[in-house]
Amino acid sequence: MDIKKAIKHLIQLKDEDFARYHIYNDPIEGRIPSYLREDIIREALICGNEEATYAMEKLGMVKGIGWADLVELAQSLGIQIQFKKCDNSLQYVYFGSYEDSGVITLYEETISKGEALAQEYNIEEFKGISLREVVLAHEIFHHIEARKKDLFINSFRINLWKLGPYTHRSRLICTGEISGMAFTKRLLNLQFCPNVLDVLLLYPYNEILAEQLYKEITMSSHQKYILKSHYL
Ligand SMILES: [Zn+2]
Repeated sequence: MDIKKAIKHLIQLKDEDFARYHIYNDPIEGRIPSYLREDIIREALICGNEEATYAMEKLGMVKGIGWADLVELAQSLGIQIQFKKCDNSLQYVYFGSYEDSGVITLYEETISKGEALAQEYNIEEFKGISLREVVLAHEIFHHIEARKKDLFINSFRINLWKLGPYTHRSRLICTGEISGMAFTKRLLNLQFCPNVLDVLLLYPYNEILAEQLYKEITMSSHQKYILKSHYL
């Protein structure tokens, strides 16, 4: 795979395309009715954008939030930020993580490596992008998601099974990721979807997985008109 070409292609994709990839990867993807998918995507994107707008208002900013603003935002939300060197499991490369207790961990060594790589490829759209800001913004959204129970992504449920008058319903994992992506993009005023970085940053660790991820994203972005058969 020509990674530079792949990245250039991903930069062109819309938020909805990446959102379809997230839906495709949800643990209960098969239970999400096709006719609801585009609505779910739209609502989840609106949710992330609205939360970014609230956050910017809170900071008194129009656009162009930087590291210090993000740290201020995190503090105002009661988040504790901690730094660790790295946490690389076999398949995944972690740049950051969030715990429901309100702690965000940023993996510095992995982030610095990623930032150096983004510079190395010399891609116009990445100029001036700080990866640690992207990671922190994304994890801040997960905190908002954990605290604001009335958000669309928390209240929306899929019917899983029915037993007499009882219907078991479940929330989706993918909606939090879709909103988080929209939140980060708006907050940092990015010109591309932050998930583009997932492919770029995975590449030096595992070329095969990076290519697989690239293919999954581009393939699921065409899923709009494909109706899957499943039971509701
Ligand atoms: Zn996430």
